[in-house]
Amino acid sequence: MAEKRDYYEVLGVSKTASDAEIKAAYKKMAIKYHPDRNPGNKEAEEKFKEAAEAYDVLRDPEKRQRYDQFGFAGMNGQGGFGGGASMSMDDIFSMFGDIFGGGSFGGGFGGFSGFGGFGGGGGKHVEKGADLRLKVRVNLKEVASGVTKKFKINKYVTCPHCQGSGSEDGKKETCSKCKGSGVTYRNVNTMFGHMQTQTQCDACGGTGSVIRNKCKHCAGTGIVKGEEIVEIKIPAGVQEGMVVNEKGKGNAARWNGVPGDIHVYIEEEPHPELLRDGQNLQYQLLLDVPTAILGGSAEVPTIDGKVKIKIEPGTQPGKTMRLRGKGLPVVQGYGYGTGDLIVQIGVYIPENLSREEKEAFEKLRTSENMKPGATAKSNFFNKFKKMFE
Ligand SMILES: [Zn+2]
Ligand SMILES: [Zn+2]
Repeated sequence: MAEKRDYYEVLGVSKTASDAEIKAAYKKMAIKYHPDRNPGNKEAEEKFKEAAEAYDVLRDPEKRQRYDQFGFAGMNGQGGFGGGASMSMDDIFSMFGDIFGGGSFGGGFGGFSGFGGFGGGGGKHVEKGADLRLKVRVNLKEVASGVTKKFKINKYVTCPHCQGSGSEDGKKETCSKCKGSGVTYRNVNTMFGHMQTQTQCDACGGTGSVIRNKCKHCAGTGIVKGEEIVEIKIPAGVQEGMVVNEKGKGNAARWNGVPGDIHVYIEEEPHPELLRDGQNLQYQLLLDVPTAILGGSAEVPTIDGKVKIKIEPGTQPGKTMRLRGKGLPVVQGYGYGTGDLIVQIGVYIPENLSREEKEAFEKLRTSENMKPGATAKSNFFNKFKKMFE
């Protein structure tokens, strides 16, 4: 155990310091070495504890007198920690009641929960910022890869003047109506007898503290209207109507409470050529007659640009081809894999022919091979029948 420093030395006051001087000195130390201001700083935490212990003794006339007379030895067994045992963080924070007003740190200093116990000090109301709604338009390419978009958003932000405390001088007082608990009790008589109901304190909005000297910029709310560039991450595979939640990016909450979320509503920009069917994409490919008959190749649009596909000789209208993996991915956590691009083939019949074209087809008219045989007819009929199944 490190050598204990003299309590007066710790607080930087003289042996004849008044109660007010001691209190003021401790307050300065408490703010300076506050764990919330010095996250992860062990030295600051030790100083913070040391100051709290010194103040706990010197603020009490009886303890102070004993300390003056006997030094640390006089503290043994008195006050609980004089003999080397340190004050717990809970003790320290409960002591804040005298200094800053009880519960004043309840909502404002989120860092305290890490010290255990303090966060659980009563069912105090924590402010929650309002959620925001945002519509985001995505094209199929963005759906395929996922996309991060930036938006300039008008919303409530933490007041920069008071850092969200709502107090001009950083001070808060314990609410006199609820004594800092954030709740008030009411006695009611019901058919079951005398009962006590608990309601949120209306004087402090359940926070347990009130601000006398309100911040002029935010009128004591700790939030002001502002603008923020917000990055919205849209995962791959989203669909029209889906809502993506961006936690904590909505409106800031009063007095450094929990910020709201942004609900991002997905709007899908239609693709000029491809139709979406869940994870799959559909494309209608219209072949010319010679290519359908003689075979060849055709271009098909995909999300990553055009691809060439092979057309077999004798390709029938209504035939479908499947380009595996050329569809869309699934949204994280729902199913797996990537969809396909389904190509539905049609054959274009020109309405007007030149004389040469007409002659060429006239020559083919008499050809037996051009006429559908029994098999072709029955295949055609079966396909038709299937449409009604
Ligand atoms: Zn302010
Ligand atoms: Zn209250």
